Amino acid sequence: MLYLKIISIFFLFLWTDNLFKMAILDNELTYLPGVGPKRAELLKNELGLTTWNDLLYYFPYRYIDRSKFYNINELNKDLPYIQIKGKFTHLETSNISRNKKKLTGYFTDATGVIEIVWFNATNWIISSISRDKEYVLFGKPTLFGNRLNIVHPDIEEFTKWQKQLVSNLYPQYSTTEKLKTGYINSKVIQKLCDTLLKQVKGQIPETLPPWFRQKYNLKGLEETLFELHFPTDTQSLAKAQYRIKFEELFYIQLNLMQLKLNRKQNTPGFIFDRKKDKILKDCFFKNIKFKLTNAQTRVLREIRKDVASGKQMNRLLQGDVGSGKTLVALLAMLMAVDNGYQACIMAPTEILAQQHLKSISNFLKDLDVNVALLTGSVKKKDRVKIHEDLESGALNIIIGTHALLEDTVKFHNLGMVVIDEQHRFGVEQRARLWAKNVKPPHIIVMTATPIPRTLAMTLYGDLDISVIDELPPGRSKVITRHFRDRDILRVFGFIKKQIDQGRQIYVVFPLISESENMDYKDLEDGLEGYSRAFPPPKYQISVVHGRMKPADKEFSMKMFVDKVTQIMIATTVIEVGVDVPNATVMIIQSAERFGLSQLHQLRGRVGRGTAQSYCLLMTADELSENAYDRISTMVNSTDGFEIAETDLRLRGPGNFEGTQQSGFTLDLKMANLSQDGQLVQYVKDIAEEILTNDPQLNRNENAIFKIIIKQMNKGFEDFGSIS
Ligand code: ADP
Ligand code: MG
Repeated sequence: MLYLKIISIFFLFLWTDNLFKMAILDNELTYLPGVGPKRAELLKNELGLTTWNDLLYYFPYRYIDRSKFYNINELNKDLPYIQIKGKFTHLETSNISRNKKKLTGYFTDATGVIEIVWFNATNWIISSISRDKEYVLFGKPTLFGNRLNIVHPDIEEFTKWQKQLVSNLYPQYSTTEKLKTGYINSKVIQKLCDTLLKQVKGQIPETLPPWFRQKYNLKGLEETLFELHFPTDTQSLAKAQYRIKFEELFYIQLNLMQLKLNRKQNTPGFIFDRKKDKILKDCFFKNIKFKLTNAQTRVLREIRKDVASGKQMNRLLQGDVGSGKTLVALLAMLMAVDNGYQACIMAPTEILAQQHLKSISNFLKDLDVNVALLTGSVKKKDRVKIHEDLESGALNIIIGTHALLEDTVKFHNLGMVVIDEQHRFGVEQRARLWAKNVKPPHIIVMTATPIPRTLAMTLYGDLDISVIDELPPGRSKVITRHFRDRDILRVFGFIKKQIDQGRQIYVVFPLISESENMDYKDLEDGLEGYSRAFPPPKYQISVVHGRMKPADKEFSMKMFVDKVTQIMIATTVIEVGVDVPNATVMIIQSAERFGLSQLHQLRGRVGRGTAQSYCLLMTADELSENAYDRISTMVNSTDGFEIAETDLRLRGPGNFEGTQQSGFTLDLKMANLSQDGQLVQYVKDIAEEILTNDPQLNRNENAIFKIIIKQMNKGFEDFGSIS
């Protein structure tokens, strides 16, 4: 699949007649003047910067317009870093503890006075400030008590400032609290970058060939990097940013396109002949009681074409919750079975695997197919039998979990692999499955949530993509409502009514991986409230959270599936695919803390039966604007693709469901997948054109591409052919 650790390796090479490693950018930061072991340690731990190259690519997160001066009477605590010009009227020291002094300066312009505060190095400041001179201060107004002040601003004599000012754009680098206590603020980072750029000037190897830069009007790399750290003006800055975005997106696409192309050309696949359809037809005409949607039919046609082509298929199957992906996957598996091959479907949890077994067995009722379930909890004796039957070919379809990946699992002739909820599996795990055959099987990867197009192109660009963009008819929409915590009693009343009608209820609390404790507390507190409102024996509650042993979790879920309990209180562990048609209410607590795609996914747990279903989004009484936007999106839209786009826009790809667990770092330094969608398409076309003319990038003018791609894939060679 995809190896996006690109940027950090960009600058390792110099292109000359011979290629040799460009050592200077590999230098550790300790070798940079101004960085001692202590600072190096901090930069590494706090920002992940270890080499000169890392720092070179640590770009400012914004630029402040330093041509603008604020009037002191305009200042307020909500302003970002601002600049003021004026004089100090007087300075005052006071003791805040036995050995700590505070210095307060009173700074004035024509419009007012503001306090400037320093907590250390006060003597030095006192001796260097003159009351006659005009100064420029740069800092952030904050409220202390009820007075506005600026703590530790940058300070510069106005006359010097005028001379020094090369550009109005002043870079701001993100720092952390720890960095600041180690005296590494944005300005220090800027200084370090300045030192660094002077040291490496003339030695930064270009990473795009000249013809390419000329054709697409891209600045040289060295100029670009100087510009990003020390911009001359907005226009040049924009061109520099464009070059970096262009480059990072281009190399991702070039890499993906080449993988895809090589695989298509070099990987033969099993041929499934539709004339052999038998079980598939029986299943279709005897056991499927509904008509396929147009989208399902279209996707099946795409699959059919692939498996007849003689090339191995690698297809991503996207579709909203409930759009009928599983059925499509089953029919694809039957193509394999009718042609004498085995098929398998792998799910991320035991419950999901069981549900697949149930629905697949239904569709295959009275047909001559041998299906079995292989999960961690299958008893040793049964397991041995399953292993034997798989190896002999007696089993046609195996449904399972990670257990399928074990070395002891051997197939007779695996022809089709379906992976459900794909992002739960890492690249390596999937590789193990492919390796079970001499010839790789056809592969369908199903995603749990729709992925925005640009993100799909970037994460899964080496796969062919099929989309089911239509729900089966007759589904009633889940009614979504927003409630505040203060409305909880009304919500309890609603739950009681639903339970009286024989329905079941999910209640979900957020799970934040960084603070398991906190979250567990959320659930515990919440559980107490619910237990009091819904006491036994009339009401029974299942509880599931991440800290439980898998077996207890499974048990608790099963109680709910079997309708022994009416309420299931859980953290997001239930998010994936549980199917309980009788559950009609999904209550999401602290909904503002969830991503949109996750909310959508959770909402998809209800509305699976015929009864009207509801999703209640509970939030704090007070909400930020962004949170309110997100909640409103959920209330107003049920379209998974639309919601995914909004999620990408509001939270960026790093947080996007699917990318975190995908096993790849989508480490874009500059490009923004939600804003730069057009650029993604543009560079993809360019990459395709280059590869069409020179598939192996063997031509001289493309040599530099080849080197960079090779670097990108370092450590992933083994997976090159398996997606
Ligand atoms: P997904 O895996 O995409 O979330 P499923 O495959 O689980 O969706 O399908 C959800 C439900 O819809 C299942 O009960 C399935 O049998 C049913 N279903 C699938 N396709 C159709 C269709 N064309 N018409 C009616 N119901 C369908
Ligand atoms: Mg599903």
